[in-house]
Amino acid sequence: MVEPYIMLMRKPKSFESMLDATAWKLLSIIAFRASRTGSTVYGLEPGEAFVGDYKNLKLTRSKYRTALKKLEKRGFITTRTTNRGTIAKLVDSEVYDINIEANNHQTDHQATTRRPSDDHQVTTNNNDKNVKNEKKREEGSAPADDCFVLAKMIKQRLPAGQTETDADTAAGLVDKLLRRGAAVDEIKAVIGWFADDPFWRRSITSVAKFAEHYDTMARQLAAKIEAIRTRFPPGPCSRDRNCTRPTIDYEHDDYGKRWWWCQKHYPFKVEGKGRLAKAIRELTGNMVDDVYGLFK
Ligand SMILES: [Zn+2]
Repeated sequence: MVEPYIMLMRKPKSFESMLDATAWKLLSIIAFRASRTGSTVYGLEPGEAFVGDYKNLKLTRSKYRTALKKLEKRGFITTRTTNRGTIAKLVDSEVYDINIEANNHQTDHQATTRRPSDDHQVTTNNNDKNVKNEKKREEGSAPADDCFVLAKMIKQRLPAGQTETDADTAAGLVDKLLRRGAAVDEIKAVIGWFADDPFWRRSITSVAKFAEHYDTMARQLAAKIEAIRTRFPPGPCSRDRNCTRPTIDYEHDDYGKRWWWCQKHYPFKVEGKGRLAKAIRELTGNMVDDVYGLFK
């Protein structure tokens, strides 16, 4: 039996891509990891790979993000976010050809009614673990990359005439929020929301002000998210009649029937695309990676 391999095409485009070291590394990892046939167990479609565990890949968050954006912009990959981490899909076979096996007979409906071995998923998924590790911060360590990224995101959303805060001070302020227990996605949600709020967009004029009023803003946003959730009273989990977990999101199928899902039984194909998730994403400017982890 032949050992599995992937093809690297000898083309100018390949050579050009190699010159950007980090993007090349990430592209190679995606090609190496990508599922050829898709995986129901891990919720992957053909050509898709988990990439959210940037620390395992020896990348900083900012380098990983930049490389991912570049690959997306150059048309090599598309990405989607799930509550088990970011998934990249290799959509260009001009450089790496992994011989993707198209299986179009597997429709969305079939995929959602199939029942994967859930326990297996939970114990073998490394991405979830990574997210949790990221939230656990050591006392006394220097601001991590995500602090700088978040601080920059805040600055970009400030009104004109903002008070300038240098990068280190701004990252330090964000670091304090994280140490107090704010999650990265929660901060992102507040960043996405405050600049569109008639009151906060006028009073938040610096990163310091953002940090000062963070708790109040987070509380208000949490109430808004809760209001969205209660507007659609959840039904029982449609995946398994015996499931008693609280449902978190719903989707309509081709026949207009509403399907409710708990976090465990959420169908991977529509993950993060259910009606409630969409409403929350819109409220937070599409900035959050994990709408289900918000404000719980
Ligand atoms: Zn369920």
